[in-house]
Amino acid sequence: MKNVTVTINGRKIECAPGKTILEVVHENDIDRIPTLCHSAELEPYGSCFLCVVEMKGRGSLVPACATRVADGMEVETRNERIEASRRTALELLLSNHYADCISPCMEGCPANVDAQGYIALSAMGQYRKAVDLIREANPLPAICGRVCVRKCEVVCRREDVDCAVGINAIKRFVTDAPGIYDGEPSREKPTGKTVGIVGAGPAGLTAAWFLGRKGHKAVLYEAKERSGGMLRYGIPTYRLPDDVIDAEVEYICRTGAEIKYNTRVGKDVTVDDLMKQHDALFIGAGAWTGKAMRVEGEFDTEGIVTGADFLPEMADDPKELTGTVVVVGGGNTAMDVARTSWRLGADKVIVLYRRTKAEMPADEMEIEDCIEEGVELMELAAPVGIVAEKGRLKALRCIRMKLGEPDESGRRRPVPLEGSEFNLPCQLAVSAIGQNTVLDGLTEAGGEKLGLTKWNTIEVDTETMKTNIDGLFAGGDVADDGPTVVIDAIRDGQRAARAIDAFLTGGEIPDKPFAVTKAFWSKPGTAELGEVKESPRHEVHLIDVEERRGSFKEVATGFDYEDNVHETERCLSCGCVRFDDCALRLYAEEYGVDMERFKGYARKHKVDERHPYIVYDPNKCILCSRCIRTC
Ligand code: FAD
Repeated sequence: MKNVTVTINGRKIECAPGKTILEVVHENDIDRIPTLCHSAELEPYGSCFLCVVEMKGRGSLVPACATRVADGMEVETRNERIEASRRTALELLLSNHYADCISPCMEGCPANVDAQGYIALSAMGQYRKAVDLIREANPLPAICGRVCVRKCEVVCRREDVDCAVGINAIKRFVTDAPGIYDGEPSREKPTGKTVGIVGAGPAGLTAAWFLGRKGHKAVLYEAKERSGGMLRYGIPTYRLPDDVIDAEVEYICRTGAEIKYNTRVGKDVTVDDLMKQHDALFIGAGAWTGKAMRVEGEFDTEGIVTGADFLPEMADDPKELTGTVVVVGGGNTAMDVARTSWRLGADKVIVLYRRTKAEMPADEMEIEDCIEEGVELMELAAPVGIVAEKGRLKALRCIRMKLGEPDESGRRRPVPLEGSEFNLPCQLAVSAIGQNTVLDGLTEAGGEKLGLTKWNTIEVDTETMKTNIDGLFAGGDVADDGPTVVIDAIRDGQRAARAIDAFLTGGEIPDKPFAVTKAFWSKPGTAELGEVKESPRHEVHLIDVEERRGSFKEVATGFDYEDNVHETERCLSCGCVRFDDCALRLYAEEYGVDMERFKGYARKHKVDERHPYIVYDPNKCILCSRCIRTC
């Protein structure tokens, strides 16, 4: 049959009759028309309506996959009307696409570590690959495997069946495998740019890792003689051994990062000097001064210290303790002070907290370990004064509290009970109620003042970690709303590195990928899960309490092989395994879909996993009918 001539986007094309517009456009590389229902092996169907194009003489748009070319036809494949129509089609398809593109654990992790991915690799025995996958978001996997507060587990869907998967213990397990520090991390070729970093804590180290991998040279200025920040000087070695920190820092330095120790910025070298020497500067100086108890005489009495002074001192030069130690506070620092004091020989250790155990901000596991080691919890009591003799602490004057109405944090406010004061005899009192920043010499650059918050932390844009001074970035405990946890510092270092790379190269900061989540429609439940049998969670193994007294030996010994197999099998694999190449998701990103426009009612169908190779998830159906047409 005679060829026909069509005009597509102003270009004349001669082609065989009977072909569809879609085929002609793609065969001649004219445009990339989106489609979800089309398959070259199947008859045209035209249900997704994504491939619409404009045809001269036709009022409405036509589907390119189902419209055959005809002589003299004039077609346009891309304009505002077509794009709007495609966007609407995608919004309708997604309006009840009840799915998690990303697993809740990855979404819940501040650093977006792909937990589902490394759990799957761990299940396959691919431990090194699992560690390298973690490192794509977090260069401190073995550290986090020991001390992370596990925001991933809080949102784990397995909780609806029985109990969250032991995600962090799996992370620890893969990092315990031999060979995880072998070889060189992958790096882009050197750019010749250098970035100064103040502080070799988790925020600074993470920034250095990602900058190094982008080919920039990171130079860290560290006030102390060792790296790690609060990982080393705050968290005691029975929770996080020094050699684990050393190994991770050494691996980070293989990206070309250099650490200049015993260099306090603001004293030994100025911020101005560093801004001149480097192409950008990141401040990750942490929060290194303990908050006072605010009771009269605490600064003039021997035997009263803050946790932020006590722990670094004991990390550098541990001393034997005797008598009673009272620790004021209910957070992680308080637990670490209490457990350290017990190990150093204190006869009695009491944690004094103004609310109850249920409101304590410390990790539940840490509180339990504390109690197991014989530390006493004194709830609903707070210090109001000091009893001293010849300038030396004899007792803390305390008052009983009761719980009142909830405060702005949602927790019930502690209210003092009038007339309930009592003396709590002790030889050492440690205030562990939080830390403040130390910004001496860090708040000015090039005659400009650094913006600070009301908490005396550095004001930043929390997406880019940019400060008000061009080329100066900050993150971790020193910035925004102050001291938090390791994984938040890692997130900040990661975001800062992304923004610094864009700043140095003149590039754009990549947008967050488009993703839908089931929670957008309603709280996911067990209705849509297949048959899931209850299976109790395995916890990491701990050494006996008797072995811990007087020793800083690591308490948690991790998982055995069988525990890892068991826990990885408990993972429900909530995130979509086709995230990277899902056409629906990629088109949604390309066409700037607004999920709110047609937000619909999501039916929660049970996922059918009976077939050995095909998982049928009707919650994700986009009515392309390819499965039916193929069958
Ligand atoms: P840091 O870790 O404080 O590091 C800052 C670095 O900057 C330090 O090395 C410091 O020496 C250096 N520095 C400071 N000023 C200067 C200067 N002027 N010049 C050069 N260098 C400077 N988080 C958890 O997730 N899990 C836990 O179990 C946990 N336990 C904790 C226990 C304790 C006792 C404490 C104090 C904190 C704990 N945290 C925990 C919190 C966590 O350690 C911090 O959130 C995290 O270390 C913050 O990282 P960063 O890099 O911002 O600061």
